[in-house]
Amino acid sequence: MRPRGNVQFDNSGRVVLVTGGAGGIGLAICQAFAASGATTYAVDVSQPEPGVELPAKLILGDVSQREDCQRVVAQVVEEAGALDVLVNNAAIQPPDSYRAIDQLSPAVWDKMVAINLSGYTYMAMAVAAVMRKQQSGVIVNMASAQGHRTAREVPAYGPIKAANLMQAKQWGVELAREGVRVVSVSPGAVGTPLLRASLAQQGGEAPLANRHPLGRIAEPPEIAAAVMWLASDGASFVTATDLEVDGGLGAFAAFAD
Ligand code: NAD
Repeated sequence: MRPRGNVQFDNSGRVVLVTGGAGGIGLAICQAFAASGATTYAVDVSQPEPGVELPAKLILGDVSQREDCQRVVAQVVEEAGALDVLVNNAAIQPPDSYRAIDQLSPAVWDKMVAINLSGYTYMAMAVAAVMRKQQSGVIVNMASAQGHRTAREVPAYGPIKAANLMQAKQWGVELAREGVRVVSVSPGAVGTPLLRASLAQQGGEAPLANRHPLGRIAEPPEIAAAVMWLASDGASFVTATDLEVDGGLGAFAAFAD
């Protein structure tokens, strides 16, 4: 195989906080930042799966609770003295959210709004105050290909992901003169527990993989790599925008699966 080139980032001296960092894409993001020298924190409602080593300090907390977000950010700043990167990543897509809009339970909707939307806002509220004082920082919102385009029976997840894109644009413009960049990442399908929980609704992995022009779903480190670049000085002129990391999915009109 021809050499494909290595990407290396140096995050020594930087302090990073990843929401939902104990599993899935968040875990891969923690691993990438920690391996590049960052002081890495994760906030999560759960511990990592048995046998999984989390190379980050885990603070238990629920991002849908504003007090938890304030407590976590205060603890990171108190211990580490700064907060350079926030990755808003914790979100849920429960199996019973795959419904037609008139079949969606209000309780499921409320819970998804609380975690996937308010959680991002509460974390940004707490972190933006710190970054404004520092006059530096990067916030990355984990959005989704489903925030750009419709899919079958995602009446809550898709619209909330679209709001995550707009949060990054809005906050990015507001904070641009404060030395703070805000961006979002929109993955296609990624092999994580969240995806596996929904594979039955999506007809299994093979047709889903086939809808991506690259012919496969992503691995979590491939999404982490995009976050690493966006958080780096290599992306110093990139703000208030989105990066689609989707194996070509967004450009592909899949008229026939
Ligand atoms: P996951 O379910 O595998 O992991 C999510 C993590 O968030 C878990 O560790 C979970 O415990 C934690 N979490 C859940 N609720 C929380 C709360 N209230 N407070 C704190 N932590 C909480 O999910 P994933 O697939 O890794 O998804 C991560 C992000 O990527 C989400 O924003 C998701 O919408 C997005 N995304 C995923 C895919 C995919 O195919 N997996 C595709 C596009 C976008």
